[in-house]
Amino acid sequence: MPLDQSGARSAKLYRYQIPMDSGVIVRDQRLLQRNGYIIELKDSGKIGYGECAPLPGFSQETLEEVEVQLKEALEHWYQTGLWSDWNQYAPSVAFALSMAQAELSNLLPEQGEYRAAPLCSGDPDELLPVFDAMEETGRQKVAKVKVGLYEPIRDGMLVNLFLESIPDLQLRLDANRSWTLEKALKFAQYVSPEYRARIAFLEEPCKTESLSRDFAQKTGITIAWDEALQQTDFNEIELDSLFGQESLGERFLGEHVGAWVIKPTLIGSLERCNQLIDFAHQHGIQTVISSSIESSLGLNQLARLSAWKTPEQTPGLDTLQLFQTQLEVTWPGCPLPVTLLSDQQLIQQW
Ligand SMILES: [Mg+2]
Repeated sequence: MPLDQSGARSAKLYRYQIPMDSGVIVRDQRLLQRNGYIIELKDSGKIGYGECAPLPGFSQETLEEVEVQLKEALEHWYQTGLWSDWNQYAPSVAFALSMAQAELSNLLPEQGEYRAAPLCSGDPDELLPVFDAMEETGRQKVAKVKVGLYEPIRDGMLVNLFLESIPDLQLRLDANRSWTLEKALKFAQYVSPEYRARIAFLEEPCKTESLSRDFAQKTGITIAWDEALQQTDFNEIELDSLFGQESLGERFLGEHVGAWVIKPTLIGSLERCNQLIDFAHQHGIQTVISSSIESSLGLNQLARLSAWKTPEQTPGLDTLQLFQTQLEVTWPGCPLPVTLLSDQQLIQQW
């Protein structure tokens, strides 16, 4: 009699579709619904979930490609109880598989960091109640402002207004590589030098890494890497060699680099994310776990990853309001209705 190799293992692969709030624009495309996959692993009475949701305009992989990879990986795990090297899969696939395994093996702690850095767009007064609540719980007042969408002068004046009117506020800014060096400098010109230290960081101000570094040097404003960490050439770098090679070390560490923004769906496995986080911390750089617009299921796991690996930083997970519903797992305090995983399409089970 052949032994049953699968033992107590089973797996399910779901495909989900969640309607988005109207008017969600992601990199010039209107995102009407979010599509992704949820894997469910069961082994010896334990259960683990993982979300694979390539983000249009950011992820290189398509939904069709990830479905093929997920099926192949789940089949192999079902048969053998083992995983192939996570790095052979697309980042969103590696993230989903590794998170589900981390839940199965109790690696991912239950406690999550659900506090968000609110996104500010116009009037600082609107956010005063949010900042008061932060103060009451003994937190640093921190907010995020997207810049680079309008004239740099307007952005500079807005940031200056926020910093001027709320004296203990720290701002995280994100320009998503939209500025030329000239425009970035114009922005900085409108932010009083005495306030610049309260810009916790400005993510990717310019079109290239070297222009962003020039900007930081010229203005003293701390910058953060986000897109740079998602590039294939970066992800092929062994981290120990990063420090050894002067040019690479300067590129990603450097005097004015204050933070790395870690978006696991775009970076890859939990193991790789943890390597990046540990490496950054060893070199005095903060890390911020951020969302790639995952459903409430994936977002909860990111909140847990943040509480575990970056407990001193408020994560960048303020994206659930872009959805019309939550999926299976609720986010504390979120008023959106919840859709069950069992109502989504079951693609295959093992
Ligand atoms: Mg960013």
